[in-house]
Amino acid sequence: MNEDLVLPDSDLSPELREFALQVRDFAHAKLAPHARRIDEERTFRAESVAELANEGMLGGTLSPDVGGSGWSPLQRVVAHEEIGAVCGNTRGFLAVHTGLVASTIERYGNAEQRERWLGPMCRGDSIGCFGLTEPDAGSDVASLACHAEPTDDGYRLTGQKIWITNGGIADVILLFATLDPSKGKDGISAFLVESHRNGIRRTRMPGVDLGHRGSDHARIKFDNVEIPGDALVGSPGQGFEIAMAGLHAGRLSVAAGAVGIHRAALACSIAFANKREQFGRPIAKFQMVQERLADMTVELIASRQIVHRCARRRMEGIETAGDLAAAKLYSTEAAARAADQAVMLHGGRGYSSEFPAERLLRDIMGLRIYEGTTMIQKAILGRAVLG
Ligand SMILES: Cc1cc2nc3c(=O)[nH]c(=O)nc-3n(C[C@H](O)[C@H](O)[C@H](O)COP(=O)(O)OP(=O)(O)OC[C@H]3O[C@@H](n4cnc5c(N)ncnc54)[C@H](O)[C@@H]3O)c2cc1C
Repeated sequence: MNEDLVLPDSDLSPELREFALQVRDFAHAKLAPHARRIDEERTFRAESVAELANEGMLGGTLSPDVGGSGWSPLQRVVAHEEIGAVCGNTRGFLAVHTGLVASTIERYGNAEQRERWLGPMCRGDSIGCFGLTEPDAGSDVASLACHAEPTDDGYRLTGQKIWITNGGIADVILLFATLDPSKGKDGISAFLVESHRNGIRRTRMPGVDLGHRGSDHARIKFDNVEIPGDALVGSPGQGFEIAMAGLHAGRLSVAAGAVGIHRAALACSIAFANKREQFGRPIAKFQMVQERLADMTVELIASRQIVHRCARRRMEGIETAGDLAAAKLYSTEAAARAADQAVMLHGGRGYSSEFPAERLLRDIMGLRIYEGTTMIQKAILGRAVLG
């Protein structure tokens, strides 16, 4: 495979290329040996938390002041491409733990909350999850029903969350609940809830997940859970803004993860096409196979560029919701096309977990759905272009 496609971006500075290769070495040494097994066994691999912590990745984007590594947005997308190319479960864990939860605490938490949670989260001593989705509130976040009733010294929580990544293993839940359902989005507040509190019940999501099978996806029920007043993040009623800011920041990691899946789909297709012989020659010699590889390649280049553009605009402070929607929309849909082609190109072997193509196809479906579905990204982009 051409080096410029394998390496993250020929436009990257030598330092960023070096960084990408370091993350790649880590992903190949520590994550690749387990990626297929954890998918087949449907188990979250707890050891990966300490391994990510040792590399400074759990606090990757956080500032060194709070124990983080101070990655730039470009380092973030490069790292998420590398990890996403090898293990979608690990990238998903990281995107939620650091991208959605720790980053939100860093941005919106007070000094005590930052002090209490961020060091342990960077070290892997505490795991975070992002509790937003409910049975009747998915894309329509503002309609959430989980209720926070004020008490003398805090709040009492009732309700439930579903599809919460890291939900069963988390120590802290960044929970979104409403103080007043009649106020819609303006009634929503954010809370940092310790997962061991009385009245919290966590169970695995029912059924077998299509992809991300080595991730922990939980249903979390809150039955009159008492939490102290200092669990509130930001001010009362600021929760919708906090949730949207977290998702806004997080979508960049999802988009970069999709580039990783896309690259992996292309790489395994090239390797297979060169090896597999039919009609007396490698299938790579057939022009229709080459056409598929060409389509996957040009879309990979475009996808990576749109994601890196977004990261560069974030560094310049000019990134918009439309930029992010375009990046997530394009990268996840292009990766889905690539993974679909990879399965087809492998023929019957593409249908088995012996080869990686089918896992890539199952995993990419998750990226098209979470942190705002493809249709929601189109709605955001539509609003952006219409002004
Ligand atoms: C693997 C995985 C991990 C997840 N992790 C988390 C997590 O950590 N935390 C968390 O809070 N949630 C998580 N989720 C939930 C995820 O964010 C939601 O599933 C997603 O936002 C969609 O919500 P929904 O499932 O209720 O679908 P719905 O909102 O019911 O949507 C159903 C369909 O209707 C379409 N639709 C809805 N509204 C519109 C509209 N206005 N215009 C056009 N089409 C529309 C959608 O695009 C979709 O196709 C996860 C989901 C998955 C699959």
